[in-house]
Amino acid sequence: MNYEAVIGLEVHVQLKTRSKMFCGCGTESGAEPNTRVCPVCLGYPGVMPVINAEAVRKTILAGLMIGSQIAPFSKWDRKNYFYPDMPKNYQISQYDLPLCVGGAVIINGKRIGVTRIHLEEDVAKSFHFATSSGVDFNRAGTPLMECVSEPDLRSPDEAFAYLTALKEIFISGGVSDCDMEKGQLRCDCNVSVRPVGQQAFGEKIEIKNMNSISGVRRAVAYEIERQISALGRGEKLQQETRRWDDEAGKTFVMRTKEYAHDYRYFPEPDLMPVQVTDALLAEIRQLIPELPDAKRLRFVQQYGLPEYDAGVLVADAAVAKFYDAAAGQSKNPKAISNWVMTELLSKFAESKITPGQLAELVGLIDAGQINGKIAKEVFAEMFGTGKSPAAIVQVRGLVQVSDTGALEAFVDQAIAANPKSVADFQAGNPAAINFLKGQVMKLSKGKANPQVVGEILQRKLAAR
Ligand SMILES: [Zn+2]
Repeated sequence: MNYEAVIGLEVHVQLKTRSKMFCGCGTESGAEPNTRVCPVCLGYPGVMPVINAEAVRKTILAGLMIGSQIAPFSKWDRKNYFYPDMPKNYQISQYDLPLCVGGAVIINGKRIGVTRIHLEEDVAKSFHFATSSGVDFNRAGTPLMECVSEPDLRSPDEAFAYLTALKEIFISGGVSDCDMEKGQLRCDCNVSVRPVGQQAFGEKIEIKNMNSISGVRRAVAYEIERQISALGRGEKLQQETRRWDDEAGKTFVMRTKEYAHDYRYFPEPDLMPVQVTDALLAEIRQLIPELPDAKRLRFVQQYGLPEYDAGVLVADAAVAKFYDAAAGQSKNPKAISNWVMTELLSKFAESKITPGQLAELVGLIDAGQINGKIAKEVFAEMFGTGKSPAAIVQVRGLVQVSDTGALEAFVDQAIAANPKSVADFQAGNPAAINFLKGQVMKLSKGKANPQVVGEILQRKLAAR
């Protein structure tokens, strides 16, 4: 029998706000454990939460970017459960009236529906040591947005593409940095399989708390195979929650049969509902940036880039912004893209080069002022010092030698010193000219215009 997979993702995204969801504690990562805490986020009884308006605005912006309806009226609910990372025994979340309803993300031309985005507070983080465990409450109360997809995904690759697209969108809007290594984006995957052609869904298996996009792809692929082979053996699957062990490459059962009503949701009595006015909505609409898909298309059209280049550049919002500024000042946007992709991308954060300087460097090459080899040296100095390329070329005397008289002398020297290569060339080995060319470049200390050198060599060798 042929099966198809049905996948839905619940993505948790920590919002980029200075303070927590319901108190004034800071949200910076990397602080000493339990130093960004107060009675509210420690869950003391009797404290009063206060809504972080910026977190509400960022969630609305996230919704607008994926085409959600923003609810004019939404409310807060308590999700009750007991766990060491949640000492007040409930999480403040949104149950039946979330801030954002509907929406979609387009991947490879396919529409992946979004059911809802709601806002809640993150929980504390448990650490397990050799003989003890600890809980860090710095994370407790961090604004957390949960984006729930429709079960529209059909393969591990689609799940990968959806997560990548969602991450790009949220980063581009400044909603979150989505740094998965810092746990700013985590994902639960709902996976089921069903015979091709069947309408009803199979038993839903949830894989909890994935923190890498490639891990999601591996876990979903494993889970699909596992479910299909279990059904093939005549086993019955039941709704359960599993965890992914990336090293083992397997999922393991955590718990079975968990339903929404187990959480005994009820309205949060300490918080007013959120009412979104038309004025607020209009204000937030102004903040919607150019979305990654639109930007890729624009880079292809405006700068004549191949789609591959546009995809690489747009994947990082800061890199895209740099490229956009540099290409806008250059007559050769494709060369700018080559420099960014090969020389800048892997160490972008450390670079001191401005977009204008990169455009200037490409201009110097195109004008024949420096050759490609010297340009790499100049680039390295620009990278570390932030100096302008023209200044570096001038101070270090790197201007390319295109003056034919000077180059002819170097060529004569190279020919005289390498009779074997000359003989090889004349015996019909055209590659021998490259060695001679290299010798001329050396004599010029790398500053010769390679094209002019090639022409002079050809001429002189032919005349012999
Ligand atoms: Zn606090």
